[in-house]
Amino acid sequence: MSEPRLLAGSPIAAEIRAGLTTDFAAFKVKWGYSPTLAIVLVGADAPSAVYLQQILRTCQKVGVQGRLLEIGSHAEADDVCNEIERLNADSAVAGIIVQMPLPAHIPLRTVINAIDPAKDIDGIHPRNAGLLSLGYDGFLPATAQASVEILKRSGIEIAGKRVVVIGRSNVVGKPAALLLMREDGTVSVLHSKTKDLAHHTRDAEILVVAAGKPGLVTGEMLSPGVVVVDVGINVVDDGEGGKKLVGDVDFASASAVAGAITPVPGGVGPLTNALLLSHLLQAATAQAQSQADAAR
Ligand code: NAP
Repeated sequence: MSEPRLLAGSPIAAEIRAGLTTDFAAFKVKWGYSPTLAIVLVGADAPSAVYLQQILRTCQKVGVQGRLLEIGSHAEADDVCNEIERLNADSAVAGIIVQMPLPAHIPLRTVINAIDPAKDIDGIHPRNAGLLSLGYDGFLPATAQASVEILKRSGIEIAGKRVVVIGRSNVVGKPAALLLMREDGTVSVLHSKTKDLAHHTRDAEILVVAAGKPGLVTGEMLSPGVVVVDVGINVVDDGEGGKKLVGDVDFASASAVAGAITPVPGGVGPLTNALLLSHLLQAATAQAQSQADAAR
């Protein structure tokens, strides 16, 4: 079997970032400030740290202020919500991301509800999630959007294809499935209670994997020519005493069967960050405009 086509997110992300750099410079000229992206981190875990460093680097590249707000893992939900309220009220802050997972004692829903939907640039607030499910414009969860954008921008037809999504989380799997439906894919969603995963994955013409389980999908679970989008980001031992990043798909065996595949790292991840910052520009522009209108 010939080598699969590698669907690299990095060049697509670089193209988006180049446009954003120009657009954020124009924003600064027009409105007199650079918008801030605030990232709320409660406690810390390894994948979060990797993800946050990437976002902060991307902020720097496009001329956005990145503000990391670290809250200790023993904080209560009220403390986290109070910090979010402060960010909601801060006119320099155009977008807020709350890094997941939160410590177990903090109810996710309480924290999500505290975010101003107009600053919810990763589309986790029920208002934005509802807009997505109804097919209206709102902020999309950036990772889910990236998993679809990488297909579209690589010229891969989704309409009419049998699309299988593994994972049904509110932040990745579910919104990815909704977006793929919006693109006219025939979408099935698999999850941890699905029986005989391979039976379903072998039927896929496009397979999107977002389970957070390294090596969940292997080549023998795929049909020849399938397009594989690996959303997973897992930190595992590299066998030499260090750590490395891998996806949810066993890249070596999947590559022997797939027609196209995203690498990890360098696939969906870089595109996610670029899209997140495009949402920040959208949010900042809407907020600056509405403040100017209110001042008239
Ligand atoms: P999550 O909230 O833990 O959800 C995982 C989903 O996968 C759940 O729906 C779960 O099913 C399903 N699942 C778990 N084990 C499974 C199995 N053995 N077979 C079938 N389905 C299984 O994770 P998430 O937040 O959606 O993230 C998914 C992955 O994407 C993680 O690796 C995460 O690090 C990565 N991620 C990547 C980016 C990026 O920019 N590339 C951004 C965010 C997250 P149930 O619903 O039944 O529990």
